[in-house]
Amino acid sequence: MTASFKKSKLGFGLAVLVPIFFLFGIGLFFEQGIIIPVKGPAPRDWNPASFWSPVWGASGVHKGIDIFTPRGTDALAAVSGLVVFQGELKLGGKALAVLDPKWRLHYYAHLDSAAVRAGEWVSQGSVVGKVGNTGNARARPPHLHYSLISLIPRFGRYSGQAEDWKLMFFLNPADYLG
Ligand SMILES: [Zn+2]
Repeated sequence: MTASFKKSKLGFGLAVLVPIFFLFGIGLFFEQGIIIPVKGPAPRDWNPASFWSPVWGASGVHKGIDIFTPRGTDALAAVSGLVVFQGELKLGGKALAVLDPKWRLHYYAHLDSAAVRAGEWVSQGSVVGKVGNTGNARARPPHLHYSLISLIPRFGRYSGQAEDWKLMFFLNPADYLG
């Protein structure tokens, strides 16, 4: 009795874990293009030079890109993945993070509102929230702060710039946007 109970529990655990590991393992071998994570006719309204711009207030170096767009514009999932964080941060304001199958985190900050919760799976292009200027962006016009963070260190990217060890983790979205 006890043995079969343990066995079925183990079976259930494997049924959940194996697809997750399979998905996140196999993801490493496929290139999933990233889309610009806001809806609109001119979503390329961002300055690619804003990535790794030094002296960016309390955050130090600017570790992402800012996409300026009217308040309430839909923020979109740049790729498909699992929402691993959704909440309110001092600097980021209303923020969320999506983990993709290539072990990269997609971080969205200064949202007016979030449309997804931690634990949800989002598909590329689906609405994850509305653009705003929450957190330390209150004094600035509404924009989406978007960071792309590799959980697997990219050792070749160590370059000698300010806070440069973090460049092994923070990728420039401009290099991946399709
Ligand atoms: Zn920013």
